[in-house]
Order: sequence, then C-alpha cells, then structure tokens
Amino acid sequence: MIDEYVTLTIKKQKNIALIAHDNKKRELIDWCKKYKDILQNHKLYGTGTTSRIITDNTGLKVKGFNSGPLGGDQQIGAKIVEGVIDFIVFFSDPLTAQPHDPDVKALLRIAQVYDIPIANNKSSADFMITSKFMNEDYDHKVLNFNKNIENRAKTL
Ligand code: PGA
Repeated sequence: MIDEYVTLTIKKQKNIALIAHDNKKRELIDWCKKYKDILQNHKLYGTGTTSRIITDNTGLKVKGFNSGPLGGDQQIGAKIVEGVIDFIVFFSDPLTAQPHDPDVKALLRIAQVYDIPIANNKSSADFMITSKFMNEDYDHKVLNFNKNIENRAKTL
C-alpha cells in the first residue's frame, strides 16, 4: 500500500534560488546585501543575469543557470522536481510584460505542487528569511508521484 503523500525534508542548509526581473534587480541586490550573513550559510542558485550581478555586488557565491528568458526559470523548475532547489526568492515585476511569462507561471506552479516556499516580493522574502525554520530541518508533505502514476496507469 503506497501512501498518497511522502514526507520530504527541507534541510537546515537550504538550496535557495534567487531571481529578479530587470526592474527588480536592484531591490534584490539590496536585499541580498542586507541578509548576506544568513544567505552565505546556504547554497545559492539563480537565473543567469541575476546570479551574476548578485555575485558582483555582494561577493556571495551563486550558481548561475541560463538567463530567465532563455530557459533559466525552467531550469530552476526542473531542479525543484529533482529535489535540488527547495526555497525561492523571486522578485517578479508585476507592471511589465515579460516575453517568458509562460515560464514564470510554470515555475510558480511547480513550486506550489512541491510545496516549496516562494517569496515574490520583499516583505514575503523578509518574513521567510527570518523564519525560525531557516535554522532547522523542515518536514513537509508532497504528493507521492509513484502513487499518482500507479493510479493513473490503472485508469487510463
Ligand atoms: P535573468 O532572468 O536573471 O537572466 O535576468 C530573470 C528572469 O527574467 O526570469
């Protein structure tokens, strides 16, 4: 009997993805400077341009994927599915049309599916980064995809 949900653990050392749309990049750099002491204890990832300018401006080590419009958001989404990334700070721009809007939506959706904490503005990010859960392992329930496939294979 396979359970509907599995318990996964977001470890004390988080794997944090940092992303900002162009009009929000300065805000994210300032946010990273403010929380540098906390951020440097975790593994940092980011879309291409965002990761580069965070490193240039703060000295934080950030592993860069492709630029967002060239698939970087999709790469980060795939890393959520693989269980590599488990925390996201994404300063998106609500006032400017983005060519990669479908990719952005896909990332938000997959973060929801996998119950990944995701901040899309500064106040949410402030609350998340100062949470007591930053200093401990956090267990959460995620849909059991083996069970899901088993059920679907039976019915289709
Ligand atoms: P960028 O991508 O870091 O390469 O600018 C971010 C985005 O627009 O999603």
